[in-house]
This record gives sequence, structure tokens and C-alpha cells, in this order.
Amino acid sequence: MPNSIDTKDLIEIVRSGELESLDAQGILTWVIENYGSRMALSCSFGGMTGQVLIDMAYRINRKTRVLVLDTGRLPQETYNLIDRVRDRYDMNVEVLYPEAESLELFVRQHGMNSFYESVEQRKQCCNLRKVEPMNRALAKLDAWVSGLRRDQSETRSDVRKVEIDKAHGGIVKVNPLIDWTQEQIDDYIKEFNVPVNRLHSKGYPSVGCAPCSRAIGPGDHVRAGRWWWENPDDKECGIHVGEQFDGSGI
Ligand code: SF4
Repeated sequence: MPNSIDTKDLIEIVRSGELESLDAQGILTWVIENYGSRMALSCSFGGMTGQVLIDMAYRINRKTRVLVLDTGRLPQETYNLIDRVRDRYDMNVEVLYPEAESLELFVRQHGMNSFYESVEQRKQCCNLRKVEPMNRALAKLDAWVSGLRRDQSETRSDVRKVEIDKAHGGIVKVNPLIDWTQEQIDDYIKEFNVPVNRLHSKGYPSVGCAPCSRAIGPGDHVRAGRWWWENPDDKECGIHVGEQFDGSGI
């Protein structure tokens, strides 16, 4: 059961910055205990960070809600991982879908693969398949947990562990692993045998939609395989738009 602290008081605690000194488990425990079913963990099932968070959250409270976006273009390995997680943790992963009518119209007008044609087309596709369904889900929550890490994108350098997500109605957004390194993630996965996307072992550090993700080479930036045909400054999908920064993607 959530604690009985008033939502306004919780927001004040976030604003004060006092939570920034907590470690990942401490931050997760805080948000789970205070928000209960009014919070959810958003996981792409295409990055290792989200898988670590699911494992941590499960150890704190087995009923923690987990959301995943099914864009309709995910690789089979990601769908397989969703089922592996459901089995391993006996968990009901909540799958979010795009609004069918708008997506049908978009595809009818622009074709199946218009994301390769321009940044605008790509962002429109991300908007319909990711941003809109996520916004719909977040509108029903008071807090959410994301797997953002500072070392994965230039645009994530100012993100705090806990912040007010103004772009989503002023709810609380928690980034427990924001300051974790890849080495820490690897160690956790090994120690707890956390299930991860099998494409990671094929050179994909970050797995998104199948047509927009590819393996990277030695020395490439960790997100180089995402929307690889675009300028790096444009490589965000729009979900993580908030107070601390203005654009980032799963
Ligand atoms: Fe569309 Fe590619 Fe964005 Fe997926 S990642 S929503 S396929 S543009």
C-alpha cells in the first residue's frame, strides 16, 4: 500500500532535491512506496537499463506496474523478451498500442517506410507509434520510472534522478539509473541473471523498432545504430520531453 503523504508534499520533496543523494534502490523504493499503482515503470525491452529496473522493482514490490510500447515495428527478439519477463517475474506487462485510426491514415498517405524520407516523417511516425500512446498512459499516472542514463546521449547530461515532468502534466519522473555506467549495468545483469534482449549479443547496444535500429561497430557511440541515417542532433523520439531537457528517446 502507498504511504499516505499528500501528493503536494511529495512534489515538494522532489523539488527540494533531497532525493538526489539516494541510490537507485532507494529512489525506486521511494516512488513505489509513495505512489503504488499510481506509478509505472516504462521499459522499451530494448535496453539493458530497463531490464535492471524491472528486476530491482520486482525485488521491492512484485506488483510494480511495467509498461511497454508495441509500436508494431519491434523486432521479434523484443517480443520474445516481453514474454520471457512475464514468465520469469510472473508479471503482467502492460502493452500499449498506437491509436489505430491515425496510424492507418498516416501509413495510407505516406507508405510503410516513410521514416527514411525525412526527419519530419520519422518524427511523425515516432509521434504516432510512441509519443501518443505513452502520453495517454502517463495521463493516468502520478509518477513514472524511466531507464534514462546520462552517458547514453548528449541531451541527457542535465537530467536529475527525480524531476517534475512538466511535459506530462507535472507528474513525477524518476530516473534511478541516470548516473550508472555500462559496467555497473553489466555487473548487475550478471549477478542477478537478468533477462535481456538477445540482439545485444549481436552488436545492438540499444534496440528500438526493427527498421530504425542496427548493430554498431567498435568505437561507435552507443546510440549510433538508432536512426543511423540522421544527424545525431535529431536522434530523439519525443517521449522524454521535460523540465530538464527537451527531447530524448527510448
Ligand atoms: Fe517509426 Fe522508426 Fe520511430 Fe519506430 S523508431 S516509431 S518505426 S520512426
